[in-house]
Amino acid sequence: MRKPLVMGNWKLNGTKDSVKALVTALLDSANKASPKADVAVCAPAVFIGMVENLAQGSSLKWGSEDCDIHTQGAYTGENSPVMLREFGCTYAIVGHSERRDYHKESSEYVAQKYKCAQENGLIPVLCVGESEKEFDEGKTMDVIREELKAVIDLCGIKSFEKAVIAYEPIWAIGTGKTATPEIAQKVHSDIRAYLASFDADVASKVQILYGGSCNAKTAPALFAQPDIDGGLVGGASLKAPDFSAIIEAAVANA
Ligand code: PEP
Repeated sequence: MRKPLVMGNWKLNGTKDSVKALVTALLDSANKASPKADVAVCAPAVFIGMVENLAQGSSLKWGSEDCDIHTQGAYTGENSPVMLREFGCTYAIVGHSERRDYHKESSEYVAQKYKCAQENGLIPVLCVGESEKEFDEGKTMDVIREELKAVIDLCGIKSFEKAVIAYEPIWAIGTGKTATPEIAQKVHSDIRAYLASFDADVASKVQILYGGSCNAKTAPALFAQPDIDGGLVGGASLKAPDFSAIIEAAVANA
């Protein structure tokens, strides 16, 4: 049985005051959800220490929005998985489409981030997904297979025993266009089938989150799908009542 996970991705948002208010407001929801669902927030690196102080001792977990492929050295501006672990991070998002696009991160480079995160005690949350053009051309699984294969080649299929996958159709991120539950379920099930062609046991156990304009209204039907194990949530994770409603949807479907 896969435990649902609801994860916020704050992106480049937040102030000291808003982070304090948001995390404080979420502690109760995360604690209540914890027997049935895990809850996490992935924050900009400068806020991670603050999140650690606020969330320590609660069921709320936290993580980074990215990490480097090195643990230390002359890599100005980067964040090492070792440092992120020291600040209590459980997760590191890798391969978000905004980083693949704006920072030109290839699937091979994302796989190196995944590897470095995992080797240093973080759970990588590997984002995969297609553009609108690729969706229209029916290339969704071609894109996703390539993104997954880069990780399988570098880290092996068993590495997914300690990783999370997030299916995020790029055309749905921040656009208000959520994939229908049927479309999302089909892709999640295709992802699981692809992983099962390497290892059926790993495929049946890995958590696959849906991301892309997931909100309080769309979450219940999405989370009711058999292969959707929760959500990676951008915009709606910045407002405690909205994010709490999404957490409740995950609990209801656990
Ligand atoms: C995201 O970028 O991970 C995301 C899911 O964003 P949004 O929920 O705002 O579409």
